[in-house]
Amino acid sequence: MVSEAPSAHPNRETSRQKDFYRIEWAAFLLYKYLYVMIKPGQMYTFLMLSLGLLLSCGAVKQTPGTQTDEQLLTDVKILSSDSYEGRKTGTKGAEMARAYLTGRFKSIGLDSFPQLQGYEQPFSFKTGEKTIEGKNMIGLIAGEKKQVIVISAHYDHIGIIRGQVYNGADDNASGVAALLEIAAYFKKHKPMHTLVFAAFDAEEMGLQGAKAFVANPPVPIQLITLNINMDMISRSDKNELYACGTAKNPFLKKYFHTSVPTPKVILGHDDPKTGRDDWTNQSDHSAFNDKNIPFIYFGVEDHEDYHKATDDYQNIDEAFFIGATKSILEIIDNIDRKRDSQQLIHDNQRMKKQ
Ligand SMILES: [Zn+2]
Repeated sequence: MVSEAPSAHPNRETSRQKDFYRIEWAAFLLYKYLYVMIKPGQMYTFLMLSLGLLLSCGAVKQTPGTQTDEQLLTDVKILSSDSYEGRKTGTKGAEMARAYLTGRFKSIGLDSFPQLQGYEQPFSFKTGEKTIEGKNMIGLIAGEKKQVIVISAHYDHIGIIRGQVYNGADDNASGVAALLEIAAYFKKHKPMHTLVFAAFDAEEMGLQGAKAFVANPPVPIQLITLNINMDMISRSDKNELYACGTAKNPFLKKYFHTSVPTPKVILGHDDPKTGRDDWTNQSDHSAFNDKNIPFIYFGVEDHEDYHKATDDYQNIDEAFFIGATKSILEIIDNIDRKRDSQQLIHDNQRMKKQ
């Protein structure tokens, strides 16, 4: 490294100006060099290539790295292990899940809201005569804009029934693990929107955590522009991941393109005419929909281990789960940066012409 001797009375303005002239001069020389070295016909190609390179820098840069995949699987494995006792709201298992999530939120570097207790948002609700206490886990990454996307997944499950632990690996340790991977990505790649990460409690008791969140959100509710909810995303015999919610908000359809070849992401399960096949009220996104906040819910169709003691880690499909998480991440990134498929086709055609 070459450093210039500091002058006794540095004039900041002058030295800044000098730097500017130096950069301008270097740019001019580079341009002249390229002009001489590259035939005029190729200059356009060169410029377009550079532009393409610049544009591609905006794409999700998380290589299907083994480290991220390992972490994703580890999170599911731990949260769905017997020691978490099925994470039923109000139990020791749920408290252990919160302790684990606090550690993960901290290590990722998520901020917390000053009005909450760490990452915890306590709430209570009644079932019959009983009052039950629940706690949502909420973290934050501030973006360039104050408009908010809430990325959610419930961490509770149904506990121990007749001596059997219901581990809820797919339902919904999978969604929570994906939430953590997405949070880690955006911590490294600053988002445009402010992202609120919400691991909800008491979904299995009637979406209570999500209802408490929208009743008392940590940000003004009018700033919440979208909810992305994940609930059961780690297995499908048909290799299908559904995205529900674009029927009501078709403007979201254009963001559904990913570089991940599998699983198939299918828009659907959101036609009110189809009765139980309409999943609009099936998970936490329903609470956002009730407040007229657009949502996308990612999930799979019910499988043989759904709400059974056999919803265990060994029954999830690791490849499906890794692919599903990456697809969801890319779609969120598209929405966050408003990269629609029209823009992508345009970029691709331009690259092909060269
Ligand atoms: Zn669930």
